[in-house]
Amino acid sequence: MGDALPIGGLDVVLVDGILRPATGGRTFETLNPATEEILGVAADGTGADMDAAIGAARTAFDEGTWASDPTLRARCLRQLRDALLEDRAVMRALTTAEVGAPTFLTDGPQFTAPVEDLGWCADLAETYDGWERDLGEASPMGVRSQRWVWREPAGVVGAITPWNFPHQINLAKLGPALAAGCTVVLKPAPDTPWCAAAVARIAAERTDLPPGVLNVVTSSDHALGAQLAGDPRVDVVSFTGSTATGSTVMATASRNITKVFLELGGKSAFIVLDDADVSSAAAMAGFMVSTHAGQGCAITTRLLVPRTRMDEVVDATAATMAGLAAGDPTDPTTICGPLISARQRERVEGYLSMAADEGAAFACGGGRSPRFERGWFIDPTLVVGLDNSSRVAREEIFGPVLVVIPHDGDDDAVSIANDSPYGLSGAVFSAEEGRALGVARRVRTGTMGVNGGVWYSADMPFGGCKASGIGREMGVAGFEEYLETKSVAVAR
Ligand code: NAD
Repeated sequence: MGDALPIGGLDVVLVDGILRPATGGRTFETLNPATEEILGVAADGTGADMDAAIGAARTAFDEGTWASDPTLRARCLRQLRDALLEDRAVMRALTTAEVGAPTFLTDGPQFTAPVEDLGWCADLAETYDGWERDLGEASPMGVRSQRWVWREPAGVVGAITPWNFPHQINLAKLGPALAAGCTVVLKPAPDTPWCAAAVARIAAERTDLPPGVLNVVTSSDHALGAQLAGDPRVDVVSFTGSTATGSTVMATASRNITKVFLELGGKSAFIVLDDADVSSAAAMAGFMVSTHAGQGCAITTRLLVPRTRMDEVVDATAATMAGLAAGDPTDPTTICGPLISARQRERVEGYLSMAADEGAAFACGGGRSPRFERGWFIDPTLVVGLDNSSRVAREEIFGPVLVVIPHDGDDDAVSIANDSPYGLSGAVFSAEEGRALGVARRVRTGTMGVNGGVWYSADMPFGGCKASGIGREMGVAGFEEYLETKSVAVAR
């Protein structure tokens, strides 16, 4: 499959504007999760590469014009967007091959959408109106002073990302950080190095990005993430990944009092109210959890169903999910592709046997897809017979597993939704929009979809509360994560 992809030279790191092999020439394999084949090799970046990348980003920020030239920033971001879109066909194929992302998603959040969002970031670099706020004159402590509040680029950003939506997550960090005037060191996940290396190559060869502004270090070694999070030359650590790793990153960054921005796990509730149209709610709930084999932090994985309508909702949702059985991700009709790795499949299987041990039944699915001899496929699985205290209802599984939990009305549904360590996303369905919005307001979470509404977009902030993270990505709020605030007063 690697040979079939007409993009080459993905076995490099990008440091100080130069695409080069890792120090010592080490490489590691990247695999196709649908076939288990080796696609090829990526540069296995070392501590020395990371050190050089951080140094280059520091110098580019401190000594270059990047931080003070929004016109250059907007131009580079548009060049990057246009070049990635020109290579859309090959980039989409690469993403399906390396991530196992179903083809239909690569024309949305797995590639095209986040690339187009770079244009929104470029526009914001030119039009943001918060750089200077005039607070006028006042006489604090008797000194007549003209006061301003300035916003300034925060400095060097260390971006550490996971494998599940690599372009979305990499670009939702690079776009706003670069637009804000920061310089970046990106350390992608070891499972998806090529997605990041391809962006690095295109940025280096086809944009005017000055050397050191964007650095990308792929590696098989998680320790490079820790190195990035703990380096005092880094001003902001922008991390997306599991809650456990996020907590470690926060502890590491705290050594230097480095600002952290964390997008972590989720266990979001899909709430069906007793007046909801069951067929649309079931279709949406079943589709959400099956998409990309459930490997999305914001996917709703608890289905809260009125006890009085349990059979109806379970039957309709199981029928939807059975119709979305795992398939070849290169087939444009596939919704549920493979899991990323054998390790991830073992983890999901572990949760399914745990559910069975806890007394659950599976209304559909329940394990490996019988249609594939190779590839890490699990069929969409609807778990019934448990309550919100079960481990499969409390812990993030990161597979196509939806746990049905009964509720006894709106108040009960809200309290079950909030009875979770996480607070990332959610959904609610009702025949009455006002009632659904009332429930949405009471769920402690970062995003809510009401009656099938979609919140994902460049101008909508995304992120979580509780163990789901700190801060917001995307939207103006996401851009401002990469700014510092300076208060200035001139005696008059
Ligand atoms: P992970 O936490 O294992 O790894 C994420 C990144 O952190 C990788 O680049 C990894 O190399 C790096 N890393 C590992 N140990 C580190 C350390 N000690 N210090 C610094 N960096 C370190 O996550 P994953 O398995 O790649 O991704 C799946 C997880 O990501 C899920 O829990 C999912 O919910 C979460 N996720 C969250 C969001 C969100 O926006 N909230 C989005 C996507 C994924």
